[in-house]
Amino acid sequence: MNQQESQKVGNGILQTALHNFDEAARRLNLDEGLKGKILEPKERIELSLSPTLSNGQVTNIKAFVVRHNDVLGPAKGGIRMTPDVTLDDVTGLAMEMTWKTSVIGVPFGGGKSGIRIDPSTLSPEVKETIVRSFTRGARRHIGPEIYVPAPDMGTNELDMARIRDCISYSEAISITDGCYVTGKPVIFGGVAGRREATGKGVIHTVLAMCKKLDMPLEGLRVAVQGFGNVGSVAACDIAGYGAKIVAASDITGAVAAPDGLDVVALAKHVEETGSILGLAGTKEIDPGQVLEAECDVLIPAATQSQITRENADRITARIVAEGANAPTTPEADEILNQRGVLVIPDILCNAGGVFVSYLEYTQETQREQMTIEAVERRLAERMTQRFHDVYDLGQREGLSLRDAAMNLGVSRVVEGVLTRGLLP
Ligand code: NAD
Repeated sequence: MNQQESQKVGNGILQTALHNFDEAARRLNLDEGLKGKILEPKERIELSLSPTLSNGQVTNIKAFVVRHNDVLGPAKGGIRMTPDVTLDDVTGLAMEMTWKTSVIGVPFGGGKSGIRIDPSTLSPEVKETIVRSFTRGARRHIGPEIYVPAPDMGTNELDMARIRDCISYSEAISITDGCYVTGKPVIFGGVAGRREATGKGVIHTVLAMCKKLDMPLEGLRVAVQGFGNVGSVAACDIAGYGAKIVAASDITGAVAAPDGLDVVALAKHVEETGSILGLAGTKEIDPGQVLEAECDVLIPAATQSQITRENADRITARIVAEGANAPTTPEADEILNQRGVLVIPDILCNAGGVFVSYLEYTQETQREQMTIEAVERRLAERMTQRFHDVYDLGQREGLSLRDAAMNLGVSRVVEGVLTRGLLP
């Protein structure tokens, strides 16, 4: 697949991923053959699921699995369940995972899955049926040494438990026999702190950036787009350092509060009602105002292609911390760079989730149990160390943080390819 082909498809995430890779390949002087070897996905699967639901109705659902690259280890990446996910989205997200696992330094490659349905319309029973149907359909492509899924938008730890149970049940193996998924409940070999790891990891990179800029955390104004797993954890975490969350949104709308939102109460409210709207003491605002809110730090933590050439000029934040995958289009990235806005790129910023997934994988492989303290300490150390590696490379070579992270991520994969040797 080349950039021209993907442009014909007109997909945001894949275009962004291809653009970022092309630029890195140019900077690293990769020849065409090596470039193709690294860029082409190993597997791009489209599945047609037709589960029969409890009311007797047969539903037809498209699902996708992409194993982009396994040079450094088994493919790793979450399962996205949204009404509009496409095979190209999943391909772009799988590519991002290849660079992300490489940047954060874990022995995995990049993969991703998608199930095209709106989870908010499903009862728990119907969602379970669909997740099990996906597991059976995708079974040949999942395994501790093949591709290890985890939660992403629209999926959670309970879904991971259902996948793991489905494999145990169908194959008569114990629930502890191999790490088939990460982000599982702790009771099934999940690691404490995995659910919070991505959001907390985002904040470790923000703290390191603020330190570089001498920006005090007390009173730091933060806006968060997407108040789901990543966004709500990041908001609560940074509020704990004295920052003020000036605006937040989810798919149902957006809210603000003059003295900052009580994000802990807001997270509870979202859990109870399913919407960010309606908490006493908050004011409803236009969702578009969140990205453009007067703030020091903007955390896009929803979905792709949210910061575009249309709104990049109106972003007031000094730091954009990409909790979401590919929230910034290449044109917007250029505008932000020119304006001196510091973008902490997704492949570094939100890599805390896959780092703690790696801890879960090793814990399960070694039949160990890690404490929450150990997980949080290792997450903090790794995120901070990798932030500095990327920052220092950027300073040395005059690159933005995104370009430095891409150079680091791609060159480790190149090193892997060359060290393994070029014969199949
Ligand atoms: P989630 O489903 O828990 O939350 C997504 C949130 O975004 C929800 O609050 C939803 O209402 C909101 N949302 C969706 N579209 C929106 C829009 N257009 N405007 C405003 N809000 C919108 O998902 P998550 O796991 O928190 O993932 C969020 C992002 O972080 C995704 O881009 C995902 O790929 C990325 N990410 C997640 C993880 C992880 O460990 N969960 C790891 C790395 C990256």
